[in-house]
Amino acid sequence: MTAASARQTMVERHLRARGLRDERVLAAMGSVAREAFLPPDLEAVAYDDRPLPIAGGQTISQPYIVALMTEALALRPHERALEIGTGSGYAAAILGRVAKEVDTVERIEELAASAAEKLAEQGFTNVRVHHADGTLGWPGGAPYDAIIVAAGGPELPRALLDQLAVGGRLVMPVGDGRDQQLVRVTRVDEADYRREDLGAVRFVPLIGAQGWADPDDPVKRAPRGTIPRRTGGPLVAPSPATRASTVARLIAECAVPIAAIDSAPLDGLIDRIGDARVVLLGEATHGTSEFYRMRAKITQELVLRHGFTAIAVEADWPDAAAIDRYIRPGRPTARPWAPFARFPTWMWRNTETAELVEWLRAYNAEARGAVSFSGLDLYSMYTSAYEVVRYLDRVDPTAAQVARERYGRLTPWQHDPAAYGKAALVDRMRSCERDVVAMLRELLAKRLDYAAQDGDEFFDASQNARVVAGAENYYRAMYYGSVESWNLRDQHMFDTIARLLSHRGPDTKLIVWEHNSHVGDAAATEMAVRGEHNVGHLCRKAFGDDAYIVGFGTDHGTVAAASQWDDPMEIMRVRPARSDSYERLCHDSAVRAFLLHLREPVREVLREELVEPRLERAIGVIYRPQTELQSHYFQAVLPEQFDEYIWFDETEAVHALAPLPDRGELRGGHPLLL
Ligand code: SAH
Repeated sequence: MTAASARQTMVERHLRARGLRDERVLAAMGSVAREAFLPPDLEAVAYDDRPLPIAGGQTISQPYIVALMTEALALRPHERALEIGTGSGYAAAILGRVAKEVDTVERIEELAASAAEKLAEQGFTNVRVHHADGTLGWPGGAPYDAIIVAAGGPELPRALLDQLAVGGRLVMPVGDGRDQQLVRVTRVDEADYRREDLGAVRFVPLIGAQGWADPDDPVKRAPRGTIPRRTGGPLVAPSPATRASTVARLIAECAVPIAAIDSAPLDGLIDRIGDARVVLLGEATHGTSEFYRMRAKITQELVLRHGFTAIAVEADWPDAAAIDRYIRPGRPTARPWAPFARFPTWMWRNTETAELVEWLRAYNAEARGAVSFSGLDLYSMYTSAYEVVRYLDRVDPTAAQVARERYGRLTPWQHDPAAYGKAALVDRMRSCERDVVAMLRELLAKRLDYAAQDGDEFFDASQNARVVAGAENYYRAMYYGSVESWNLRDQHMFDTIARLLSHRGPDTKLIVWEHNSHVGDAAATEMAVRGEHNVGHLCRKAFGDDAYIVGFGTDHGTVAAASQWDDPMEIMRVRPARSDSYERLCHDSAVRAFLLHLREPVREVLREELVEPRLERAIGVIYRPQTELQSHYFQAVLPEQFDEYIWFDETEAVHALAPLPDRGELRGGHPLLL
């Protein structure tokens, strides 16, 4: 497809079909080369209707929003416009086509310079770029017939209101937080302004004298299972309701209804996925009973009918190892501490998991099977270090002493490992990177000696040493940003899967339980735009069709989650899904629970309808219903993210077991039911 025809498709599908009518704006959108304003590697997606990253951590707005805002300015050909937030220069170019003259102001010098260059290259002689704080407007050019602000501020800057001509229009996102209202203000006369709300949007912050303060790089820990959000750019605007009902009907036609989990018609699914090497089972929240029960049911079928012998979950390695010891005959059971005692305890300390654990234990005992249970995550820096020392105490006391010293250097941050990452960056002398890497290397170098005594025990210890090294790296990476740390964590989880497969033997078939955000292919979501990968994506790359990804979703009900990291678990109400989400389409199908096959040969019409990007909801261990849009929704192409989607319209919270005191004694017996 040529750029011109891609542009025309964009105008028809994303702009005209969504109600934009100003022919001059549509003509401008159809004629300006968006790719010319993007980094070269994003050219291929230039006409997708989504915001994209540009330099300086900023975003080029989604075409629909640029068109919507420009239309709202109601510019006539002889009028003059001011834009605040030049960014890539793309919106300024559009303005340049509909107004006589444009001044555009950008606070990041690098962006201002590159936008000016690109505008010149594209032949715009009526657009002038200025490097300045745009919250103060551009007094030299005032008054303006129209002012557009492409970043969200706490309120309407006084300077901009002053620089508006009588009869002029100002369009700007206003709101405290990352969610804003798009506001249009018309200056009725010298002293009088009329204000209208145009809907919810999401933009990067307007930073300046009459905007937000310049943040000194706050870095937050991304809660487990939630998707770190991009810094801004408006999210997709609602898609028209009319199409939605047709898609919902199509879903109803293609879906296989589930009356009850115990009697779920799984034959088709199990046949389809039985030959896979790795089956990835997702979840849309970390606290929904139905997701656990359905995954347990599928897991049992795969074990019984297709020879799957390994389960790996989104839990810490040493915690899951305690379960593994409990379910596999002949492995020493007790550990001197209790697994899953730390936040978020309900993720694995729940009756749903406990039932599966009992089933696995009985299966392993009766069938002399050896289904293993492992943890993929890397949050157990200290417990893992402790386990390595304990192991070396048994097999090599001299090495144990070295391990104590090296790992001991991490102990000052035991209660706040994230603070370690910062300390290690600020003061390199405090970095333990060399210690933890040396520890791992030396352990692996003695593989032959150690493993000769007990291969499984050595594998466990070496994995713990890898977790320490991985976690040390992870906590340092957190201070470079969420993309780096997210990628390290998912790479670690994928590497663990690969090591499990090779440790358990070439024919091993593995089942993975992790949040949708880890197992759903990141390439099909906005994560890819931020440069993030994940376990699902890495598995598809490594195993091709031998990786089978099952996503899960829900509309409403209750969920176990916390309001903040380390807060107590609450049973919260899940809000009904937004009208512009995949969840809403599933809800509108009126089928209460179903399986939806998405991999070839799926009905082509269904696929065609579903490949249009929509919002999808992800609830992790934190749920913030008040800010649901920016905290929990992200853009995705569902049929590319998953091979199969399992839906439960109404769901209930997972049944948590009473929390344990941290580091409680493990006295043998069931590791969850102490
Ligand atoms: N219109 C742009 C989108 C830009 S995103 C496009 O089409 O690409 C918002 C931009 O506003 C960012 O580049 C950001 O650096 C800029 N910005 C934020 N605060 C600003 C301020 N006070 N003055 C000028 N620009 C600002």
